[in-house]
Amino acid sequence: TPLDKIRNFSIIAHIDHGKSTLADRLIQTTGGLTEREMSSQVLDNMDIEKERGITIKAQTVRLNWKGHVLNLMDTPGHVDFAYEVSRSLAACEGALLVVDAAQGVEAQTLANVYQSIEHDHEIIPVINKIDLPAAEPEMVRKEIEDVIGLDASNAVMTSAKSGIGIEEVLDAVIERIPAPKGDLGAPLKAMLVDSWYDPYLGVVILVRVIDGKIVKGQSIKFMAAGTTHLIDRVGAFTPKIETLADLGPGEIGFITAQIKDVAQARVGDTITDSKKPTAEALPGFKEVQPVVFCGLFPVDAADFDKLRESISKLRLNDASFSFEMESSAALGFGFRCGFLGLLHLEIIQERLIREYDLDLITTAPSVVYKLVLSHTKNEDAKTIELHNPADMPDINRIQSIEEPWIEATIYAPDEYLGPILKLCQDRRGIQKNLTYVGGRAQLTYELPLNEVVFDFYDRLKSMSKGYASFDYHQIGHREGDLVKMSILVNEEPVDALSMIVHRGTAETRGRGMVERLKDLIPRHLFKIPIQAAIGGKVIARETIAAMRKDVTAKCYGGDATRKRKLLDKQKKGKLKMREYGSVSIPQEAFIAALRMG
Ligand code: GDP
Ligand code: MG
Repeated sequence: TPLDKIRNFSIIAHIDHGKSTLADRLIQTTGGLTEREMSSQVLDNMDIEKERGITIKAQTVRLNWKGHVLNLMDTPGHVDFAYEVSRSLAACEGALLVVDAAQGVEAQTLANVYQSIEHDHEIIPVINKIDLPAAEPEMVRKEIEDVIGLDASNAVMTSAKSGIGIEEVLDAVIERIPAPKGDLGAPLKAMLVDSWYDPYLGVVILVRVIDGKIVKGQSIKFMAAGTTHLIDRVGAFTPKIETLADLGPGEIGFITAQIKDVAQARVGDTITDSKKPTAEALPGFKEVQPVVFCGLFPVDAADFDKLRESISKLRLNDASFSFEMESSAALGFGFRCGFLGLLHLEIIQERLIREYDLDLITTAPSVVYKLVLSHTKNEDAKTIELHNPADMPDINRIQSIEEPWIEATIYAPDEYLGPILKLCQDRRGIQKNLTYVGGRAQLTYELPLNEVVFDFYDRLKSMSKGYASFDYHQIGHREGDLVKMSILVNEEPVDALSMIVHRGTAETRGRGMVERLKDLIPRHLFKIPIQAAIGGKVIARETIAAMRKDVTAKCYGGDATRKRKLLDKQKKGKLKMREYGSVSIPQEAFIAALRMG
């Protein structure tokens, strides 16, 4: 395809503003699929994505419109996948900014728009859901101009749901988004945009060709990975798989090259011809590192092999999560897993439970701490990374502990500002900025990631009735007054519940934990002390009274609502218990205990 007939674009939208619906309409209107072939929402092809309304893996679709090839790149819609988003954006020349006519601009949208602007994209504002009675397209148009500073005078008005304005969007893409540039005569230079495992095709690699061309039979080299491969297929998704003779400059498509492991095909790598390589790799390659770790253990020890198999299968499609075997005194054999963020953790955990039918215990999520250790007789002073609070070295050797910090942008209607400020303050946040746009506040805070990994997002959402949005990026490690808090049940430390906390919040955290555990652990025939301790010092304590002889049914402490909730949960699945010495702890207790009160 000649360069001037190619347009590459992505869609930026806040969750639920209509990205998938619009994408489906674009595919339908350009004839990529017949009505009958359109399953509901083609681009979101995983159940969890559908339920949560987020795109996990980027997909791209090649559309034909008025003699042009339009490549629509779908990008992951969550902060955890920020790097993948940045590579997808780097593969495009423009973007559609979809804004819900009734909701307006959200923080996540802003972050993505700024990224898109950084990539010099031509951005076409699309005001969607104009069919809604609550739609205020003119107000949203003004908001796009005021908040983002983008000219929205020629925004396209659409209803993706009713099919209004779809052809106008396609025309705008051709007219307003610049054609890609590139040199067919130069050595091959292409960006690896994404990779995933397909049961039929093997590892599929999404590429954007910059210079030269990519053809079947060509020997290619991944410059960062340093590996060479023979291409056995070149194609594009229309969204059906279509085999092509080649991909030239400016084009987006896929290749397969008998690659066994997605970890070999790293997002952002530069692909070149191994015999006639390009002089310089593309800028911006980054090795993604997990930032949140937790242990995953099978409830039933006999499921360990099944868990290992399931984790390995998931990893086939997602090189960004890591796992290694771990054994815990209390939980037996399991895996220590690393994730790009909390949502990523939840997605993997949910898939293991749902798709692989596993009962799991997830230990407290932990961030990566840097520990400065003093020298000993046998060892020099050194800095280590700690991924698991259970591995905390001897306290006397620790000179200092550094924790990762983030800069968070929160965008919320004014009326919820009070509680949100308090939440950030309680989590050791440092306010950097507060501005108003219309009736909305835009807040910038620096926060320790450790304070965010538990339930920050959930609480933010519930205290703002879902209106607040949250976005963050890491800003490095900082020293903090951090200590390891252990939880003891009947005098026995439960390693799965130990965590690193700030000294100033340790007591509150500890008290909350033991109070919740008191409600979550059923009574036994004997009295059970539950303690939170730092080193040898107990900072909080509760006692579960012994069961009385005349109690027939299983009896739980706590109030009636909690009891009912627990009973409801039992109905849904079998109540799984873990034995700790002589004490049985229900599986739910582990997760529930970690939610902050
Ligand atoms: P995404 O999260 O941005 O991909 O959003 P979806 O495309 O999944 O849409 C979210 C919800 O909004 C779905 O229930 C859609 O049916 C609905 N929706 C999308 N576009 C429109 C529209 O133009 N009008 C109305 N009324 N609803 C829409
Ligand atoms: Mg979607």
